[in-house]
Amino acid sequence: MPTRPCWVEIRTQSLEENYRFLAGLAAPHAELLAIVKANAYGHSLALCAPAVVRAGARWLGVTSVEEGLAVRALCADAHVLVIGGVFPGQGAVVVRHRLTPVAWEPWQLDELAGAAHAAGAVSGSLPVHLEIDTGMSRQGVGPDALGAALARFSAASPLRLEGVMTHLYAADEADGAVTEAQLKRLDETLGKIEVAGLYAEWLNVGSSAALLAGQASAISVLAERWGMKAMMRPGLALYGLAPAFDPGFEPREPAELNAARARLQPVLSWKTRVIGVRAVPAGAVVGYNGTFLATEPMRLALLPAGYGDGVDRQLGNRFSLLVRGQKAPLVGRVSMDQSVIDVTEIPEVDAGDEVVILGTQGGETITAFDHADAAETIPWEVFTRIGARVRRVAV
Ligand SMILES: *Cc1c(COP(=O)(O)O)cnc(C)c1O
Repeated sequence: MPTRPCWVEIRTQSLEENYRFLAGLAAPHAELLAIVKANAYGHSLALCAPAVVRAGARWLGVTSVEEGLAVRALCADAHVLVIGGVFPGQGAVVVRHRLTPVAWEPWQLDELAGAAHAAGAVSGSLPVHLEIDTGMSRQGVGPDALGAALARFSAASPLRLEGVMTHLYAADEADGAVTEAQLKRLDETLGKIEVAGLYAEWLNVGSSAALLAGQASAISVLAERWGMKAMMRPGLALYGLAPAFDPGFEPREPAELNAARARLQPVLSWKTRVIGVRAVPAGAVVGYNGTFLATEPMRLALLPAGYGDGVDRQLGNRFSLLVRGQKAPLVGRVSMDQSVIDVTEIPEVDAGDEVVILGTQGGETITAFDHADAAETIPWEVFTRIGARVRRVAV
């Protein structure tokens, strides 16, 4: 059945090219783990997980065990890292479906060990990435809890310390001072892990910003010092956007970062179609509470896309969409299911015309950064708020 025309097009070829480009940037220092959490940043897990695997990814990262199961159903052989940790009762599913959990709370490690025992797992057979809090104060083992966490990886335990992970919280600050301090704390922790007689294969650090800022070599130097291999976890860059650096580089961005911005290709376009066009006289108001007043006769086009689809309500009266290759301002409030654009200056617009909410049409482009700036948020939120009812199609 033809569906309501509000859809997202996913160019899997661009995703594959982005992956290969980023893997080249990381090599030979670090292996990449492709972040596909939150339905691949709203891009559709079903389309994106197989695409990054085709491009060479051996590791995929998700938030939850539920998302991990969805990846496992799509990608039988990939390593699937569950970065948000396990919850009570989820250990058995982790073991059965060969997911790789990140853990940091003692009870998470107990949940996993209990499930592995129950499944008859032998010592050291369930790989775990232990998250270390190196300063973000969000999740991860702090210095005081390290001993208790490491004790859970005794020789008799079914748990194996496969990775040591941390999250950098200011990799998009160009001076790198916070990252340097975090890596120093990580280095100290790795020393304690060695003293405890444990060895982990992977040092798992850094998202898109760290990779694009050229941190791969620093992370791999740290990994090699402890006989480990480095792994980095890009998300946003895979989907074609290089994070903004704030504060930025002085006096200018490194050439590599500039080149990466030029090379990365957006993967997602978000489109709809004009339902109908109406002429209104001067004095007409538009939408809820009449926040827009027509001061002259106007032509308005109605679109089947609203905040229920992920069009931010803040965009009303302060953003433009593309139709017939030109910018058409959103007028009045964005409704749950509809919005209205001013097409007075584009007289050929008619019912059925394609409208670009995010993407390129003619010579004009609207990026997720443009949406984010207008809605006072970040591209990550713009992508992940595109509604479940918006169809994702591969192109
Ligand atoms: C989401 C996430 C990433 C990816 O971050 P980007 O900035 O999108 O590259 C990496 N690591 C962790 C722990 C995350 O939660």
